[in-house]
Amino acid sequence: MVDISKRACGHKSSLKDQFGRTATYLRLSVTDRCDLRCTYCMAENMTFLPRKDVLSLEELYRLATVFIDQGIRKIRLTGGEPLVRKNVMSLIENLSRHLETGELDELTLTTNGTLLARYAGQLASYGVKRVNVSLDTLNPERYRAVTRWGRIEKVINGLDAAQAAGLRVKVNAVAQKGDFETEVDELIRFAHGRGMDLTFIEEMPLGGGAASRHASFLSLADLRRDLEERWAIVPLTDTTGGPAKYVRLKETGGRLGFITPMSCDFCAACNRVRLSCTGQLYTCMGQDSCVDLREALRGSNGNEATTQLIRAAVFDKPKSHEFEVKNDQIIGIDRAMSTLGG
Ligand code: SAM
Ligand code: SF4
Repeated sequence: MVDISKRACGHKSSLKDQFGRTATYLRLSVTDRCDLRCTYCMAENMTFLPRKDVLSLEELYRLATVFIDQGIRKIRLTGGEPLVRKNVMSLIENLSRHLETGELDELTLTTNGTLLARYAGQLASYGVKRVNVSLDTLNPERYRAVTRWGRIEKVINGLDAAQAAGLRVKVNAVAQKGDFETEVDELIRFAHGRGMDLTFIEEMPLGGGAASRHASFLSLADLRRDLEERWAIVPLTDTTGGPAKYVRLKETGGRLGFITPMSCDFCAACNRVRLSCTGQLYTCMGQDSCVDLREALRGSNGNEATTQLIRAAVFDKPKSHEFEVKNDQIIGIDRAMSTLGG
């Protein structure tokens, strides 16, 4: 394990790409496995990766430290479901030491919330200040249908525990045509009533079968127009550096976010890179290309080769993603969301 006391005062590099953007944010997928099977994310009979292909927690930590040395300031764990990874708390504990040294500004995670009741206290004790929890509906039956077998009480208990532990919670909901549209006001009242931001995500054409998604695809531009008929929406200029555009609702005082990868271009300000649990570095979620870091990592005790691969990959980061809505079809890429975690 790296002695971080020697690292804290060292000069940090920065990860610049050819278009002048700097990568400061790493989304680290710690597993492709999940305890749910959301219909827009995974097939019901998913085949998961062989364990030998998945990086160990020690390897994930070592890779994360290479990114931190290269100027990454924020790490978000994702998956699959990050909290189903055995001993994931040991990784979080190790990463949390970089919060203490000031090398990291933020350590956070995106979770489906089913295991939050068990882990919220520990997360808070390791310096995690906020979490994103995915919840598309408050209707237990629809929750079960969307997740194929999930029980909503577990998520609600998770939200309770997270808030009791002092974590700030943002709820993420994938917008879809149909029931979602009739339930959206209830979701808003629920989230804002508990002091939580709520962000809508436009469904992305990942994981093959992209064309068939057109039936469920709900443009957030349409959703926003619909909300404007019932809610007083005040646009906000604050940004999290991510693709979400925020508004405030006068009635609730709460914030709503809109993540619209299909409708507008957020690539010009993109500061993020993504690492799969097998060590594939994706500098753009909307492209298929990636760079394998696992071989370099496993091939040497030193980090020089891995560092060079990362720097070269970030330099080559594409200018923008390649999602497209064309002739009533969504043109996507052939990779499940769960391999990278969104
Ligand atoms: N399991 C965790 C969860 O559900 O929050 C983390 C991983 S999940 C892949 C990350 C986010 O991606 C979730 O908010 C989920 O709703 C979203 N997501 C999954 N598939 C999607 C898709 N096809 N389009 C848009 N968002 C998607
Ligand atoms: Fe699992 Fe999250 Fe994908 Fe749902 S969205 S199947 S919870 S990884």
